[in-house]
Amino acid sequence: MNIYTQLCGLAIIAVLLFFYKKEPTMGLSSERRFIITLYMIIGCVILDIASCYFIVNSGRYKETVVLIFCKLYLLSLQSVSFATLGYTIADLFTFYGTYHEKMIGRFLQFFYILGMFITISLPISYYYDGVSLYSYGPATYATYFLVALHILAIIGSTIFFKAHLKQRKINAILVWMAIWSMCAIIQFIKPQFLIVSFAACIGALIMYFEMENPQSTISRKTGHFSSAVIHDYFNYLYQSKQRFSVMMISFKTLGDAATENKMLRKTINMLSDFLFNIESAKVFDTAEGYFLLVFESNDFMESTKFKIATYFQSIEDNPDIADAVTLLHPFYTIVPDSSIAFDADELMMLLTNFLPNNHETIAKNEIIIDKSTMADLQKRKQIEKMVVAAMEDNRLEIHYQPIYNVQTKTYTGAEALVRIKLLDGTLVYPNDFIPIVEETGRIVPLSDSIYKNVFTFMKSYRIEKLGIQKIELNLSVKQSENPVFVSRILELINNNTIDPKLLNFEITETNSIQSKESVLANMEKLMEHGISFSLDDFGAGSSNLNYIVDMPVEIVKLDKHLTEEYFNNPKAQAIVKTVVQMAHSMGLRIISEGIETEEQKIAMEDLGIDYLQGYYFSYPLPEHEFLRFIQQFNL
Ligand code: C2E
Ligand code: CA
Ligand code: CA
Repeated sequence: MNIYTQLCGLAIIAVLLFFYKKEPTMGLSSERRFIITLYMIIGCVILDIASCYFIVNSGRYKETVVLIFCKLYLLSLQSVSFATLGYTIADLFTFYGTYHEKMIGRFLQFFYILGMFITISLPISYYYDGVSLYSYGPATYATYFLVALHILAIIGSTIFFKAHLKQRKINAILVWMAIWSMCAIIQFIKPQFLIVSFAACIGALIMYFEMENPQSTISRKTGHFSSAVIHDYFNYLYQSKQRFSVMMISFKTLGDAATENKMLRKTINMLSDFLFNIESAKVFDTAEGYFLLVFESNDFMESTKFKIATYFQSIEDNPDIADAVTLLHPFYTIVPDSSIAFDADELMMLLTNFLPNNHETIAKNEIIIDKSTMADLQKRKQIEKMVVAAMEDNRLEIHYQPIYNVQTKTYTGAEALVRIKLLDGTLVYPNDFIPIVEETGRIVPLSDSIYKNVFTFMKSYRIEKLGIQKIELNLSVKQSENPVFVSRILELINNNTIDPKLLNFEITETNSIQSKESVLANMEKLMEHGISFSLDDFGAGSSNLNYIVDMPVEIVKLDKHLTEEYFNNPKAQAIVKTVVQMAHSMGLRIISEGIETEEQKIAMEDLGIDYLQGYYFSYPLPEHEFLRFIQQFNL
């Protein structure tokens, strides 16, 4: 009995299964269908051997037993081709709604079962001459026909769904089908060559090496699942309507690159090793050195976060390795419920959008992406859109708030404050859009437009002739750090032939300055041209006291909350008095903003404040009203 090829095939599949089972898999539907196909092939080869045995020894068994095994072999052959079809289209179902998906599945299953019944009901015979053996007859021919149909369906779906299948998979499947068809034709012409089941084994081998080798889904660097398969896995989860939670662990790096890089590598390595202990999650290693953990439930996520925190703590507290190991602190981007995103693409987009370096999240150690975060994001996007549209259609409007000079008792300055005019004429105030635009980085082009607007106004009306000595412009830290800031401003000044001495930039949020050197360098260059600087919002939020000392500012602007507090709170009074003394002793002048009543005005004058600004004097005014106001009072 010549069954060497079949035995070889069995050995091949056994080895494949051994390697396949050894590595972790993600549980994708294509993986499951590949395993099913492998088992079908094993069954087919075993039945092939069994039918050979019964044909050779037909004298010892009842005729029906021999025929049953011959038929079982035929049925298993159909099952292999059908399983292969299932494997081919496993990934395709992503692109169908459940209804289509089910209908196609049902239709194919029905067709398969029908084929089985036809094969069972048709007669079969076998031939054995002491050397070669084979089965023949209508059942055998029907099987050839049905398998051929399956193969055609497989080839057809690779062609029809070319766009949705990976090219690599298509190629591998087509090679497999070519080998199989060739063997089937050979066996059909020369039935004594029993090579069809062996050819299925070769096909499985090709698929394994080209597509299904679990090693290819694993990152060589860390041994966790690789970034290449994250998208496939998310796709599979969304498609099979499973809810899950995701936690991305990244590291925020600030400051000195060289030592941080070393620390980062060390942290990543230690965390990577530790993550092998986490059983409740699938761990992916993104190419950027972050880790992505996918949980079946939110509860597992909380406990895992706790485990990681404890682990980090234990390393840092360990006296033996304490000075060897300073670790960066992990930052968690958490999606508690996957249904927040519609599909894999959207989820991936969310995860990358909320990386700590992209965002003003540096101070926190996690961000949770849930319904409210999404609503917030939506709002931010709308606001950004509104700002961009306003810039394009020239709907930025600058209002000028007069600044009262206590000494001259006239208005010698004004602060330029931006507004956006909506299409219906209503105004949007800067607190509603400046903070958002600052985060996204669009503050630079926006400020460009604002400054252009202001300079045109200054030039057109020669405001210095009205007694205005300074126009105060608000400046964000992001801008002042920008290397092209100086050249951009000088260019704008030159284009409009503005006297730079008329300009003063108000710097605020100084505590968020990342590179003090570049800010100072920029300031100095502009100061050489006569532009001055002031410290805005002094006394609000995190104090910027040391910046009075460090920064070459000429004016300190007391925040309006401080002005307000001054009249309610003795402590604030002490602070204001000290600041006034200190600033004056350093040769700085002081503006007090938010003056709303005469009482406040008198108190501030008595304190020795140099300039006053607030609703008591005037609201911020549109260009023409501002001009009228100034003319009336100054001239
Ligand atoms: P800010 O620099 O502190 O500007 C003063 C704010 O106080 C202005 O609000 C002004 O209208 C308001 N204000 C003036 N007098 C009084 C008063 O007596 N009482 C009270 N309660 N408020 C008073 P506005 O125009 O809504 O601007 C808000 C903030 O938006 C500004 O605060 C500034 O930080 C920012 N901003 C405005 N224009 C620009 C700009 O062109 N560029 C940048 N980067 N930021 C701007
Ligand atoms: Ca200001
Ligand atoms: Ca202020």
